[in-house]
Amino acid sequence: MIGAALPGAEGLSKSFSDVGCPSQWTSCLQHTRGELIGVYRRVMVVASLADGEAHELEPFGELSAGISGERSLESSMEPFAAPAAPPAPTAPPAPPAPSNRAPVPITLVNSGIADVGETRLMQIECGFVRGFAGMQMIGNTSEVCRDGKERARAALESLAIHIPARRLVVSLTPADIKKDGSQFDLPIAVSLALLLTGQTPRINPSRWLFAAELGLCGELRPVRGIVSFFVAAMAAGLEGLVVASENLAELQVLTDLCRSGLPHGSPPPRAQGFPALGAVLQWIFEGQGTGIGMIHKFDFASSGRSGIASSNTSSKTSQRSGTPESPLELRESRIATEPFTPFALGVNFDDMILQPALALTAMVAAAGMHSLLLRGCPGTGKSMLAARLTSILPNLSRSDHIEAMRIYSAAVQRLPSALLAGRPPYRAPHHLASATALLGSPESPGELALAHGGVLFLDELPEFRRDVLEALREPLESGEVNVARSRRKLTWRSRVILIAACNNCPCGWAGSPHRDCICASGRLLGYRQRLSGPLLERVDLHFNVPESVAPIAELFISLGADKEDSQTLRMARKVAAARVAAESRNEKYGVVLNRDLPAVHLVEATGLTPKSFIEIVNTYIPKSASRRVVMRCLRVARTLADLEGSTTLRGEDVAQAWRWQSASAAAERGDDLSGLR
Ligand SMILES: [Zn+2]
Repeated sequence: MIGAALPGAEGLSKSFSDVGCPSQWTSCLQHTRGELIGVYRRVMVVASLADGEAHELEPFGELSAGISGERSLESSMEPFAAPAAPPAPTAPPAPPAPSNRAPVPITLVNSGIADVGETRLMQIECGFVRGFAGMQMIGNTSEVCRDGKERARAALESLAIHIPARRLVVSLTPADIKKDGSQFDLPIAVSLALLLTGQTPRINPSRWLFAAELGLCGELRPVRGIVSFFVAAMAAGLEGLVVASENLAELQVLTDLCRSGLPHGSPPPRAQGFPALGAVLQWIFEGQGTGIGMIHKFDFASSGRSGIASSNTSSKTSQRSGTPESPLELRESRIATEPFTPFALGVNFDDMILQPALALTAMVAAAGMHSLLLRGCPGTGKSMLAARLTSILPNLSRSDHIEAMRIYSAAVQRLPSALLAGRPPYRAPHHLASATALLGSPESPGELALAHGGVLFLDELPEFRRDVLEALREPLESGEVNVARSRRKLTWRSRVILIAACNNCPCGWAGSPHRDCICASGRLLGYRQRLSGPLLERVDLHFNVPESVAPIAELFISLGADKEDSQTLRMARKVAAARVAAESRNEKYGVVLNRDLPAVHLVEATGLTPKSFIEIVNTYIPKSASRRVVMRCLRVARTLADLEGSTTLRGEDVAQAWRWQSASAAAERGDDLSGLR
C-alpha cells in the first residue's frame, strides 16, 4: 500500500470533496479502485488500494513523485490532467498541460561588481514564478547583497509600490561570480519597479549601470567602487551611470579626465546622480529632462514616506512644490580647472623652519620620487616633513589620477576632495599594521596602493615587523603589489615615494647636543640591527636630521618673517620644473622619473662624454661601492642637476648624491666605527 510507505498518512480517511480534490484526480483514483485516506502536507493524496495489486499503483507512483516536493496544490494540479481511461499500466506519464498564463515578465537592469582588478557588469533580472509567496534572491550572493532585497522592498513600499503575495525571483548573473556589496540595492529596486508597475520606461534601463545603496525610505546612499563601475561602463559602451548624488563628484572628475584624454576613443558615459529612488523612477518613466510630473499609476511625491523627500537641503524646494527635483546633470568640473594653491590644500612647508640641506633633500625626493630615510632625535621635524611633502608635489598625471581614484574608490565610499582635485595622496600606517593592511588583498587595497602617486610614510621604522618590511621591498621597486587569496589574484598599482623615519637609538637621544642617551649597548646594537636589511639598502636618500641649536624664540621670529614669498610655492615651482626637464629627457628612454632610468641609458642621461663620466665617477664615488649603489647615486645626482637646471651632471651633484648614501650617512653619525651600517 502506498499509504504505508508515507509516514503520518495512516489513519487518515476523508472523502475526495473533503480535501477539495480536483475532478481529474478523482477519476484517476476511482480507476485504481482505491480509497482516499487523506491529505499529507497539503498536497499529498494517498490511496489505500482494495486489492493491493502492484500494477494498479502506476498512476499513483507518478502522483506521489509529482507532489512529494514542496510544491503548492495549484502547481501540482497541472501535470495530472485526466488520464485516458483505462490507462495501460505501462503507459508513459501524461505530458504537462500547457500553461494558459501569460509569459512570466522579466525585467533586466545592469549593475557592477566592485572588483578593482576586473570589474564586470552584472545583470539583474526579476520575474514571477509559480510557488509559495515570497521573494528569493539567487546568484551566489553575500549576506550584504541578500539584505538588499529587503531594503528594496521597503523603499518601494515607501513609494506605494506593493509587492504582491506571489513567488518572485531576483537573479543576479553571471551566477558563478561571488556578489558582494550594497550597490545592487538600486538596480534590484528599479528592476522590481519595472516589473510591478508594468509601465514602459522612457529610457532603456539595460543601457545604464545602476549602483547605489537604498535606505528604507528610499534615499540613495553612496557605495564603494564607483570609479571601477565607470571604467566598466565605458568599456561596455553603456550610455551612462545612475548613482547617489554623493557619488556624482568623482564621476564628474572622471568624465572630465576622460574627455580631455579619451583613452578608449569613445565618448565617456554620462552620469546621473539622484537623492532618492522616487526621483530615479520618475526619470526612468518620465524621461530625461522632464523632471516634473507624476507617474500616472503611482504617486511618488504624495506617498506618505516619499523617497523623494531626501534629508539633504537641496531637495527642500522640491518638497514644497510637491514634485521631485531634476536629476543632477553632469557639469564641467570646477575642481580640475582651479589653479594649484598649496594653501588651499592642507598642510604645507610654510609653518616649518627648513634648513637648506633638509629643504634640498625634500625637493630631490619630490622631484625624482626617490625614497628617503630620515634619522634624528625626537622633535627634529621628521614627521612634519613627511606630512608636508605632498604640498610640493605636482598634480597627478591623468592616468595616475584615474588609477588613484579607482584604488581609493574600492576602499571608501566618498573620495577625499584633495584626491578629486588631483593632489597626490599621503598615507602613514601605524607600525603595528599587518602585512595585509599594508599590501592589501584582492578585495581591498592596502596602504601601499592607497598611496599610489603620493607619499607612504613609515614612522618608527624599526618598530615595524621585519616580515612586513621585507614584503614591502619588491612592490616598492616594481611599483606594483601582487596579492593573491585562494583563486583570486590581483595587482594593485603602488608607485609611491617611501619616506621612513627613525631615531638614532631606542631612547631617541643618541647624538643629541641637549640630552644624553641612556640606552644600554645591547639595546643599541639590537636597534641598529633592525635598521639594516634589504629594504634600507634600497633607500635612495639617507639623511641625518640635525637638531636645531638656535634659540626657540628666534625660530618663531624667523618663521613669520618671510610671509610675502611662500617657501612652499618656491619649492613646488622648482620641483615642477625639474619634473618637466626629466620627463622631456627620459621620454626617449621609455621612463618618466629619474629613479627608473635604465642602466644602459644612464651615461647618455647624464649628458657627459664617456671620458668625463668616468672621471667624475672615479673622483666622487669610492671604488668599493657596489654597482647598485653607483647607479642609485647617479640617478639621484641626475635629479639634483635637474633641480639646478643643469642639462649635464656636475661633480658637485655626484658628491652630494654620495653624501646621501647609506655609508656616508652612517659615517656622519659615527656608526661606521662600530662596523654597523
Ligand atoms: Zn639612547
